[in-house]
Amino acid sequence: MSSAVAMEATRRRQRLSSNWGASETTEEPAGQWGRAWEVDWFSLSAVILLLCTAPFLVFFFVMVCDQYQCSVSQPLVELYSGEATLRSIWDKAPSFTWTAAQIYTVWVSFQVVLYMCVPDITHKFLPGYAGGVQDGARTPAGLINKYEINGLQSWLITHALWYANAQYFHWFSPTIIFDNWIPLLWCTNILGYAVSTFAFVKAYLFPTNPEDCKFTGNVFYNYMMGIEFNPRIGKWFDFKLFFNGRPGIVAWTLINLSYAAKQQELYGYVTNSMILVNVLQAIYVLDFFWNEAWYLKTIDICHDHFGWYLGWGDCVWLPFLYTLQGLYLVYNPVQLSTAHAAAVLLLGLVGYYVFRSTNHQKDLFRRTDGKCSIWGNKPTFIECAYRSGDGGLHHSKLMTSGFWGVARHLNYTGDLMGSLAYCAACGFGHIHPYFYIVYMTILLVHRCVRDEHRCSSKYGKDWKRYTDAVPYRLLPGIF
Ligand code: NDP
Repeated sequence: MSSAVAMEATRRRQRLSSNWGASETTEEPAGQWGRAWEVDWFSLSAVILLLCTAPFLVFFFVMVCDQYQCSVSQPLVELYSGEATLRSIWDKAPSFTWTAAQIYTVWVSFQVVLYMCVPDITHKFLPGYAGGVQDGARTPAGLINKYEINGLQSWLITHALWYANAQYFHWFSPTIIFDNWIPLLWCTNILGYAVSTFAFVKAYLFPTNPEDCKFTGNVFYNYMMGIEFNPRIGKWFDFKLFFNGRPGIVAWTLINLSYAAKQQELYGYVTNSMILVNVLQAIYVLDFFWNEAWYLKTIDICHDHFGWYLGWGDCVWLPFLYTLQGLYLVYNPVQLSTAHAAAVLLLGLVGYYVFRSTNHQKDLFRRTDGKCSIWGNKPTFIECAYRSGDGGLHHSKLMTSGFWGVARHLNYTGDLMGSLAYCAACGFGHIHPYFYIVYMTILLVHRCVRDEHRCSSKYGKDWKRYTDAVPYRLLPGIF
């Protein structure tokens, strides 16, 4: 069945490519868009490198806190001098425990129940919140999927229970996450690999939307970047929406709270740096859930297929590496001067403002089809056309005013400012917490390139008109 699906998809692609060969005007849009069909050697090498190194990188950043008080250089110096060996470091790391497995099983099951069995009611009483059943963006094959948006509700219930436990019930210690951190790493890896492998096999045996599957012919690339676009179980269990949002992002704020509780337990106080990290990251997380319907229109859902990159990334990379600042502060409790704390807060809030306003402007512009006000004026835009995989001709608009007229990805710039603020909250004692800003810079610059490649394939000459009108990506006048 899978090869028939793949062949049909390839035939359709060839048919469409030949139809679109000469088409690069507004009337006749560009060729096939969406994830690559052919893999170049550079992408393949990057994929294999990531598959081989990413799990060790996560282990390294967590292990150095456990064994070296978050010094990144100390283990390398010890390995070089022979004082430590890979084996001795490995032997000192806590191993898998059944307690951690139970905690993680309860956690993931609880999130599945909240996702699948508790339809959203918050949109009925929260003004301006778009929850409940929402449409996703048009897929390359021309489908529009429906999603049950109830992430904010799940976040609220989970955190209310966490609070009730900490204040009244005392079923478990609020430090539970920190206390089981490395054993939990093994459990998250098991789920991350299981989900990615299941999605890979499912794409061959029973894909949800065969028309939106992409087989590149390279098994590593397929495993990592995914084959199915929107794998689902049943009508509603959407892998992308669930794994990114629920075990990953709902956990983010709980993990930070657990770190704060650990600081309190160890030192008898919580530092202002820890409070800053908790507050700034909580704003980002809450923003994500408040705008979960908007997330349906982002690259994760509109472009990426579901493979190891998203499956393992959401289960392991996100909860462990996005929370490095809090982990660092447990081992190195930094109390910032008032001026330093104020500067971090300002940077974080300005970054958040740029990030949210930019995203909001695009969302408003697209939702109203340009019939809105941006910075007090009617927005300017470029009309464009594109074709979906079913051959349908569609029209779209690229805004050239507001933040989208200043640079093509100012939402990424704002995100980077916020990320730098989290790191700067940890002071300048170690480079460990700064890994996050390095990673986010690589991720978002690479995302610029990927997104622009996709848009150029989708819109052809219309995209070129947009890049002529708005020539810079992240920093006007520089990049
Ligand atoms: P965007 O939200 O910027 O979406 C890009 C898409 O928007 C393009 O593919 C195009 O899609 C459309 N578009 C581009 N230019 C215009 C324009 N001028 N007018 C109207 N529409 C336009 O990108 P992402 O999905 O990557 O990011 C969403 C947010 O998530 C960002 O703020 C980013 O910082 C954040 N993010 C955070 C991550 C994290 O790990 N913390 C990871 C990734 C993202 P179309 O086909 O519809 O035209």
